[in-house]
Amino acid sequence: MSDARPGADAAPVLRMESVRKTFGGTVVLRDVNLAVAPHTVTALIGASGSGKSTLLRCANLLEEIDDGAIWLDGQEITDPRVDQDAVRRRIGVVFQAYNLFPHMSVLDNITLAPRRVHKVGRAEAEEYARELLDRLGLGAKAAEFPDRLSGGQQQRAAIVRALAVRPRVLLLDEITAALDPELVGEVLSVVRDLKDDGMTMVLATHEMGFARDVADQVCFLRDGVILEHGTAQEVFGAPQQEHTRRFLRRIV
Ligand code: ADP
Ligand code: MG
Repeated sequence: MSDARPGADAAPVLRMESVRKTFGGTVVLRDVNLAVAPHTVTALIGASGSGKSTLLRCANLLEEIDDGAIWLDGQEITDPRVDQDAVRRRIGVVFQAYNLFPHMSVLDNITLAPRRVHKVGRAEAEEYARELLDRLGLGAKAAEFPDRLSGGQQQRAAIVRALAVRPRVLLLDEITAALDPELVGEVLSVVRDLKDDGMTMVLATHEMGFARDVADQVCFLRDGVILEHGTAQEVFGAPQQEHTRRFLRRIV
């Protein structure tokens, strides 16, 4: 059967199968199955505490899963023999806030990982950093320290930093949640541009309009379970589960 979604027939960049995660006996993720096709955006929606951040942290191996398996580009990254640092180098992550090191210029923030971890030379790292900064509208901010940037600019710089290592997939955890409302748009528009460039992304968000607009796949989480998933049109337009309907009524 063919699927109209972009990349739906291609091998997934990220795949989770039967993932279970507990914290001190409490089940936080239960039988989570997820496939993220290349060049697609997956939005994780759901109430606070439903497990969105934990799912992203498991995908980046920041949390150890109790059961199940996770693959990145066909490699099982939850295999205990895997080099976890090498895996993390292929995944870009941006969190809600406090992403940048305050004592370093924007440029140094961005070139740190490429230089130290990926052993890219300074000139090459800076050239790519400036190219990305230009692309995200921050070309003039390279030499500034983070506290001289607006919240929206800081989050865009954090996205540049995540992109600087040329990740296979970008995980974005409520990256606009800490921003003043007037700064949200500029960050979301960057995500939209990255999607147009073909970046594969998984994002947890409370911005339902944005999720509806940008996501190829939407997963509704409730109590650690992906209760419903489908295209944005399916989940927002015709939610199958009463819990999803209730959540969307409350939030939209
Ligand atoms: P969301 O991002 O959807 O708000 P989280 O993934 O942050 O949800 O949290 C899911 C559940 O896991 C919550 O009940 C939360 O309290 C719990 N949790 C998250 N991290 C930890 C932790 N490090 N230790 C114990 N419980 C945690
Ligand atoms: Mg969260």
